[in-house]
Amino acid sequence: MPITEVEIISSCGECGTLIETVTVKKDNMMLFTDEQAWCSKCQADRPQVRDVAGRLSTIEAEQQSYPKAVAAEPFPGQADGR
Ligand SMILES: [Zn+2]
Repeated sequence: MPITEVEIISSCGECGTLIETVTVKKDNMMLFTDEQAWCSKCQADRPQVRDVAGRLSTIEAEQQSYPKAVAAEPFPGQADGR
């Protein structure tokens, strides 16, 4: 049986936060919408950016290259060296 459904990822057009994933029939696939969706990060209705789920790994790789706010911690045992 051919694949007739695709997973669509909807994310915030402003900050890129994942809003929802929806499974739709391939025939009805719409990557563009005028509907706005609530973004929990922006705390506002934002235009959605939609993409096919298969490309998510590309998005994740991109996000990992962004700088992260991580507290610098000394390595445990570092003082034991000398
Ligand atoms: Zn947002």
